[in-house]
Amino acid sequence: TPVVGVLALQGGVVEHVRAVESLGARAVKVRAPEDLAGLDALILPGGESSTVDRLCRTFGLFEPLRGAIRGGLPTLGTCAGLIMLATQIEDPAPGQQSLGVLDVSVNRNAFGSQVASAEVDLAWLGPASGVVGPGDHLKAAFIRAPEVTRAGDGVEVLARHRGAVVAVRQDNVLGISFHPELMGDTTLHRLLLDSAR
Ligand code: GLN
Repeated sequence: TPVVGVLALQGGVVEHVRAVESLGARAVKVRAPEDLAGLDALILPGGESSTVDRLCRTFGLFEPLRGAIRGGLPTLGTCAGLIMLATQIEDPAPGQQSLGVLDVSVNRNAFGSQVASAEVDLAWLGPASGVVGPGDHLKAAFIRAPEVTRAGDGVEVLARHRGAVVAVRQDNVLGISFHPELMGDTTLHRLLLDSAR
């Protein structure tokens, strides 16, 4: 049984735990560096990225997380999790840092207020695999969502919303602006587990 760590410092942890368990994998809440041992994959949930960043540093998780992801651990970051993964935050909170393991720039609140948030179907723009391919759609909820304003060489664009890049992949790292876990869409969790094999 694959073991998937879900960073559980703040934010939408429970929905990811349920998504992972619904796929027959085991979910482990990550709150301390030792929780990273033995994981097959990792999820960084949505929430408030500046709070998650601060708590990561308070609990000594910042460098261990960076090391694990750089070491090849298959990782999915959603919303604030994407912001945590990025090399550059265009509009950081004061003192806010990111892990710098996904070569993108992000604008934290590109899709505006809670009210401007939306539920949409996104066409898959990435390559075909056993999990998802052209012609498929992702069910996405956008909640004060970031957008990717720059994607470096070697970063694949997997989906766009209103022209803006909202899903990317670089090697073992998947980053998405939105929340499929609130829509009951496990496509990206299955993609994560697939890459963990
Ligand atoms: N805009 C939020 C941030 O800066 C992210 C919102 C979310 O994760 N739903 O972290």
